[in-house]
Amino acid sequence: MEINILEKDPYRITMHIKNIPLHVLNAIRRVSIAEVPTMAVDSVVFTINSSVFYDEYIAHRLGLIPLTSEEAINKYKSPEECREASEKGVFSEDCFAKLDLEGRNESEIGEGKPKVLYSKDLKTSDPDVKPVYDEIPIVVLGPKQEVRLEAYARLGRGKEHAKWSPVSVAAHKYIADIHIDYSRCRAPECKLCVEACPKNILEFKDDRIIVREDKIFDCTLCRECEQLCPYDAIKVYWRKNEYIFTIESTGALSPKRILLEAVKILESKLDEFINELRSKGIVK
Ligand code: SF4
Ligand code: SF4
Repeated sequence: MEINILEKDPYRITMHIKNIPLHVLNAIRRVSIAEVPTMAVDSVVFTINSSVFYDEYIAHRLGLIPLTSEEAINKYKSPEECREASEKGVFSEDCFAKLDLEGRNESEIGEGKPKVLYSKDLKTSDPDVKPVYDEIPIVVLGPKQEVRLEAYARLGRGKEHAKWSPVSVAAHKYIADIHIDYSRCRAPECKLCVEACPKNILEFKDDRIIVREDKIFDCTLCRECEQLCPYDAIKVYWRKNEYIFTIESTGALSPKRILLEAVKILESKLDEFINELRSKGIVK
């Protein structure tokens, strides 16, 4: 296997991976989306809400705010252990981080401006679990309106609810393998494929049509060139066991951590599988 990093920043990583079977890459991708745990608000206790928004609406917005989870994964109990506690409203410290939100618009009715409470206004009981972004609006308060609430965040997995998924994008892309049959091609009289390609991947150079290898990753495999060719001279395939893989994080975990956790989870599932087979005497 060969991996080259094409792009990397704190929230996104794009890799060119060679010699990896699709089912292996897809397993890592799906575990990243659905199994890697993060913290998210799961229960909200309102003491005051005189805003025009329903409690449920504000609670739903709170649930979708990404919370930093790098430390929390090791610190808090697993989603499976804490789900029941959440349903029963028992908020123990080993399962939950508490985030308080309080705000009141003191301006006079008929005169004042609306006041917005943002994610940065959440006061956390655990500095390791706080909103990733400060400027996410939660609720707008009119004059004399007030909100006071306690939000409880716990570890969860994307398969239970998308709010716990650590990724906003986890996708693989095929890489084009374009063949030109020069015995059929009628360039330069015909340059239809060059004109048709929306990504400028084909070029007329040195009296023939060439594929620009420096741009091949941009090919969308739309097959416009193949379909427009009147002489059946161009064929678009894709490379076997070679992909562009992108992970974009919500900010709860770094892309590197998401990949590491996904592989660890996959390993433990395979271990469990083989141990079960051993216990049944199916394998030794
Ligand atoms: S498949 Fe589409 S993007 Fe790729 S070379 Fe052909 S026209 Fe261009
Ligand atoms: S459309 Fe077909 S014949 Fe025309 S230049 Fe492209 S490959 Fe050659």
